[in-house]
Amino acid sequence: MPIVQLDEHLIDQIAAGEVVERPASVVKELVENAIDAGATRIEIATAGGGKTLLRVTDDGCGIDESELALAVRRHCTSKLSGGLEEIATLGFRGEALPSIGSIARLSIRSRAAGAGAAYEIAVDHGHCDGPRPTALSRGTVVEVRDLFQKVPARLKFLKSDRAESTAITDVVKRLALAEPEIRFEISGQDRTTTVFPAARDMGERIAQILGEEFSQNAAEITAEREDVRLSGLAGLPTFSRGNSLQQFLFVNGRPVRDKMLVSALRGGYADVMAKDRHPVAVLFLTLDPAFVDVNVHPAKADVRFRDPGLVRGLIVGALRQTFAEAGLRSSSEGAA
Ligand code: ADP
Ligand code: MG
Repeated sequence: MPIVQLDEHLIDQIAAGEVVERPASVVKELVENAIDAGATRIEIATAGGGKTLLRVTDDGCGIDESELALAVRRHCTSKLSGGLEEIATLGFRGEALPSIGSIARLSIRSRAAGAGAAYEIAVDHGHCDGPRPTALSRGTVVEVRDLFQKVPARLKFLKSDRAESTAITDVVKRLALAEPEIRFEISGQDRTTTVFPAARDMGERIAQILGEEFSQNAAEITAEREDVRLSGLAGLPTFSRGNSLQQFLFVNGRPVRDKMLVSALRGGYADVMAKDRHPVAVLFLTLDPAFVDVNVHPAKADVRFRDPGLVRGLIVGALRQTFAEAGLRSSSEGAA
């Protein structure tokens, strides 16, 4: 077989396979874009567990008419001017919108801040149409319909509408925890609406999302080692769960699902919690972006630390010390 260059549409579909696993992955990308756009209100509407419709509305900076076509083109981003070492935004790969447009019907309506009119662009399974004038007072509305309808292999792996809706809510909760001052609203077909109003501070947002009971049964964590800072709330060992769904970990404001971090959290509770129970925690790590690589996987949920031992020791040590001070265990070894 001769070697040929893949066409653009095929490349987008391949990228989509990595970025978009299920409706919740689309929500993650669109809400990240809204956050990056400086939104103060973000609304997420879904139908059919996100399989029929996903709509994310924001009041952010908007996209100029002249840039709408670029926004849906692969490797086009407004966010990487400082290079990979200085990523200050949640997005940077310029892959999400073209990927989504290759496996669904995508439409973006937007009015750039200060612009006199709004414009809309549509991408139907890779076929682009627009931009054309539309009506919108501010911000951006992104709609995704019929996700995976033409990708039967993916469609087959999706769960029930209810399970997909739960995954969507989980993704929004994770992003909302990192952005307490933004108001989030999630509404489903059945007219159920979940609102996280703009919060005064992190404590209030944590209580909105994990409940007052958690806040009252958690210890405040603050620790620092060699310019790596750890903060957040760790549930008391008595406030445990049967699964790890209530563990929210962030690196420089980005929700992550990193194996090492999860295991460090576990390690901090090793002496005070039964093996079959799981801690509830919200932990934020802040460190120089040069010491952590978020460009490990297209979904950006994995991270690689330059010094994983230091990070692990910081987390395990801080948790153990907190529980020791609270008199929750007999032995008091030092940090890991
Ligand atoms: P990335 O976020 O990695 O840059 P995306 O494909 O998600 O790539 O988005 C492409 C570009 O479209 C962004 O860099 C940004 O300039 C623009 N964009 C996307 N969504 C929004 C939004 N909600 N508000 C303003 N600009 C947006
Ligand atoms: Mg993005």
